[in-house]
Amino acid sequence: MDDVYCFGGNPLDRVSERRDDSDWIIELLDDSQTRVLALRDLKPFIRGTTVPALDWHPVAPWRDRIDGGAPLIFLGLGDGRAHFAIDAAGASVAPDVDIERLDVRALAPTIAPGEAAILAEARSLLDWHARHRFCAQCGSPTTMVSAGWKRRCPGCRAEHFPRTDPVVIMLAIRGERALLGRNRRRPGSRFSCLAGFVEPGETPEEAVRREVREEAGVHCGRVRYLAAQPWPFPSSLMMGFLTEALTEEITVDPEEIAEARWFTRDEIREMVMRAATGPDDPSRVSIPAPVAIAHHICRRWSSGLDSV
Ligand SMILES: [Zn+2]
Repeated sequence: MDDVYCFGGNPLDRVSERRDDSDWIIELLDDSQTRVLALRDLKPFIRGTTVPALDWHPVAPWRDRIDGGAPLIFLGLGDGRAHFAIDAAGASVAPDVDIERLDVRALAPTIAPGEAAILAEARSLLDWHARHRFCAQCGSPTTMVSAGWKRRCPGCRAEHFPRTDPVVIMLAIRGERALLGRNRRRPGSRFSCLAGFVEPGETPEEAVRREVREEAGVHCGRVRYLAAQPWPFPSSLMMGFLTEALTEEITVDPEEIAEARWFTRDEIREMVMRAATGPDDPSRVSIPAPVAIAHHICRRWSSGLDSV
C-alpha cells in the first residue's frame, strides 16, 4: 500500500466522463443533497475553531451567484451526493454562511485528510480559472466549460485545460549521509530536500540529477521514485525521489541555496522526530513538518524503509 500524504487520497469520484453532460450537472445542482464549498481569495469557509472542518453548504444560498456566472466546479461524487466548489470572490456573504476563512496551508493538517485533498482540488482549479481568463493563442476572453474542467475560446476555438506542474523533490544519498539544503528565501535554520520544476523535454529522473548538480554541485547516478503529493500552491505535483550521489563536494547555487550540508542518518532521524512532534526551535536545524512530502522522504530514508 502506498503512503498517502497531505492533499493526497481524494475520496471523491470525479466522474470525468460526465463533465460535458450539462443536463446532468443542472440536475445535480437542483438536488437538495448536493453540497457546495465556497472559497474567497482561495481560502475556504470553515466551521468550528478547535476542530475545524470545511463548511459545505446546500446549493440554495449560492443559487444567485451560480446563475450569475460565478466560477463553479464539479469536484465529484462522494457519500452519495455531488460536491461543487464556487469562487465567492467579491460576493456579499450569504446570510447563513459562516464568514471564517483560513489559509489552506495552515488549515490542511488540521482537517480530515480526505477533506484536505478535496480542498487541494478546489483551490488549484479556482486559482487556474482566475489566472486564465484570456486565450493564450489569440487573447480573446475565454469561457469555462465542462463543469469547470476546461476553458474554451470563442474567438479561435482553442481549448485550454487546467495545468499541473511537475516538481521533483529528492534526497541525495551517499552511504549513511544525505544532502539537505537551506533555501535563500527561507530565514532561520530550516533545511529540506532539494527540489525543482521538471523542464520541457526532460524526464523526472533527468530533472533530479540536473537539480542536485545545479543547486549543490553534486553529481548523481541512480534515481528511485518514492511517492507523490499534490501541492496546490498553485498547482504543483511534488514527486519524491531518492538518488545516489556519486560525488561529495558541495558547491551551492547562491541564487537559490544559502547552504547545503551532508547530514547523517541519525541526525535526520532526530530532526524527523522533532518536526513530527512540535513547532520549530529556531536555534536548531530542522526539517519541514509532516504536511510536506520532504518530511516523509527524510522519514522513510532515515528509518531504513527505503534505499536508493
Ligand atoms: Zn483564442
